[in-house]
Amino acid sequence: MTAFIDSHAHLADQAFDEDRDLVIERARVTGAQGIVCIGESLATAARAAEIAAAHPGFCWHTAGVHPSDAAAWDAARDSDGIRAEIGRGAVAIGECGLDYHYDHSPRDRQREAFAGQLALAAEMALPVIVHTREAEDDTRDMVCDAGRAGVRGVLHCYTGSAALAEAALDVGWYVSFSGIVTFKKWTDVALLRMVPDDRLLAESDAPYLAPVPQRGRRNEPAWVSFTVTRLAAARGVDAAALGECTVENARRLFALAPR
Ligand SMILES: [Zn+2]
Ligand SMILES: [Zn+2]
Repeated sequence: MTAFIDSHAHLADQAFDEDRDLVIERARVTGAQGIVCIGESLATAARAAEIAAAHPGFCWHTAGVHPSDAAAWDAARDSDGIRAEIGRGAVAIGECGLDYHYDHSPRDRQREAFAGQLALAAEMALPVIVHTREAEDDTRDMVCDAGRAGVRGVLHCYTGSAALAEAALDVGWYVSFSGIVTFKKWTDVALLRMVPDDRLLAESDAPYLAPVPQRGRRNEPAWVSFTVTRLAAARGVDAAALGECTVENARRLFALAPR
């Protein structure tokens, strides 16, 4: 069995309202050593905190404001809300970042919300979970500035360029791959090989982006095993050893207490 940690799952999503505990149990018996439950809004973070409280030492939660919702970012109110979740044990800030593909919020507002959360990460000495899509230059500038100021984080569900990954790795950041790397259209094997063993994370991004051979279904953390297998094949290493890297790296980045 391949051990792994799912570094990014939206378990608070209503897609799991009917069977959340079963989903978590399936992950556990498949080899998961933990699941980071993403709070992509303050409302979601509160639900993710309950999930974490119900599964101590196995589920953890995060709190942030997604770039899609950046138009509603209110620095004082939302920073306080995130601080309150950190007080309840949130292990990271996010997901936050920049999405110039969907542009659900104006870009200047996205940058403002992202900058606010990077500043909070520096203040609270917590890692940041970053969503980035078609926003490479601004992401590089903001991540590198934060990284040089001592902030650590991860580029989640990474599908960007080698250059952006390299820039983030250079300032001590991590890169996380999702089930997208199992899709037939994924051809960038070099990207899967360039992330060092000690900076690599794997994630489901559940309920979205189920890996092959489950593609098209509601995704769940157990299936991160398929993504780890794919990453290991690309890197020419043993899946169990690579899975163990994802465990160690997630524990280090998010300061997860082992069970
Ligand atoms: Zn995302
Ligand atoms: Zn996400």
